[in-house]
Amino acid sequence: MYEETINFIRSIYNSEDVIPLNEPQFIGNEKKYLNECIDSTYVSSSGIFIDKLERNIANFTGAKYAVATTNGTSALHIALLLANVTKNDEVISQPLTFVATCNAISYCGAHPVFIDVDKDTMGLSPNALQKFLEENTTVEGQQCINNITGRVIKSCIPMHSFGHPCRIDEIKEICDEYKIILIEDAAESLGSFFNGKHTGTIGQIGVISFNGNKIITSGGGGCIITNDAILAKRAKHMITTAKVPHKWEYNHDMIGYNYRMPNLNAALLVAQMENLKSFLSNKRKLAIIYRDFFSDKVPFFFEEPAQSKSNYWLNIILLEDLKQRDLFLDEANSKGLMARPIWTLMNKLPMFKNSHNDGLVNARWFEEHAVNIPSSVVIS
Ligand SMILES: *Cc1c(COP(=O)(O)O)cnc(C)c1O
Repeated sequence: MYEETINFIRSIYNSEDVIPLNEPQFIGNEKKYLNECIDSTYVSSSGIFIDKLERNIANFTGAKYAVATTNGTSALHIALLLANVTKNDEVISQPLTFVATCNAISYCGAHPVFIDVDKDTMGLSPNALQKFLEENTTVEGQQCINNITGRVIKSCIPMHSFGHPCRIDEIKEICDEYKIILIEDAAESLGSFFNGKHTGTIGQIGVISFNGNKIITSGGGGCIITNDAILAKRAKHMITTAKVPHKWEYNHDMIGYNYRMPNLNAALLVAQMENLKSFLSNKRKLAIIYRDFFSDKVPFFFEEPAQSKSNYWLNIILLEDLKQRDLFLDEANSKGLMARPIWTLMNKLPMFKNSHNDGLVNARWFEEHAVNIPSSVVIS
């Protein structure tokens, strides 16, 4: 049934093996820098590669500050703590995301509220957000109170799904109006821009992941980006066990975390960063090949939203219905092509099933139609 599509994808990768969803590429200075790092003996939580990486990320994204962390999840956790999210607060997010977003909310003792996504971005819908806030909340002083639960909505975390930027400018305006701190989950969107601005730099805080499946990787790793000097400094302090800098004394002024990225991982990532631009242009070429192949027929190819430049981290096609989705997944995977449905929606997971949501019409639609297809950088 989907033989033509599957053969076409296989022909792009020109391989008889299993075609992965997104394979890391180590084609630059990775081994050189890892060796330098080992030779220096600075393999752990300080070293020149960490400083270099943080400068590189800041330069690339245009954020004033970047703070490297052990992974994207720990970066999200710290971002929420920086937003002063505490026990029994609420944080608005989208149901269509990876579980890490909601886990981080839970680490703070807070509760997610799920608002629907847009059909053309797969990210949090500003219209749905506005509607929810108008109908259900009151701003008292500097706090947004959810009238249904009586809890404070401290923060909002939209996610740039599969690298496609959501309508973040409008979301920012709404959050400002309602006194909600905007954290962008840009874990998947390094190299994606909205209106010329890098994703993660529009909200007060942005979070990037360098997990093995992301566009570039440090093995495991993450990063907080912000334009706020105080937040950046506090982030660094919190991930460094809240140690008060001193030549020999161990003093800690709060409960901190051991969330720093090791220099060894930073060394790998500094090399990966050197190839980011070429990975991005390669991924864009692949997306165009897919777009032309699927050209306006079912399955539809999901294109980057208006006003945006996507990194096309994972390509998406939209099948006719749930039955066709599963037929495609079955046929592709049995023929050695990795294809995956999107995540089970967060509101369906046992931990979050009692969370408030706004009906989630579009998110449910995507769950039944969307499939990720192989998206690795093709080295030609
Ligand atoms: C990958 C990812 C994360 C978490 O990153 P880790 O580095 O794996 O902890 C968070 N949110 C989203 C949307 C992700 O895709």
